[in-house]
Amino acid sequence: MDKMIFACEEHVDMAIDDYVNEFEEAPEVLKEEIEQCRYCQLKAAYVIRRPEEFC
Ligand SMILES: [Zn+2]
Repeated sequence: MDKMIFACEEHVDMAIDDYVNEFEEAPEVLKEEIEQCRYCQLKAAYVIRRPEEFC
């Protein structure tokens, strides 16, 4: 399963909280405008994901 949440500008804080709650670790946040926000219909501005060094 990919540890990855997409979020728009407005929902990026919520996405980080959800990531920490779901995966119990700190994510990295990158600019990534390829997906839809998990929390609304807008295009995502960020991806909140597991840091590369732990892959
Ligand atoms: Zn949103």
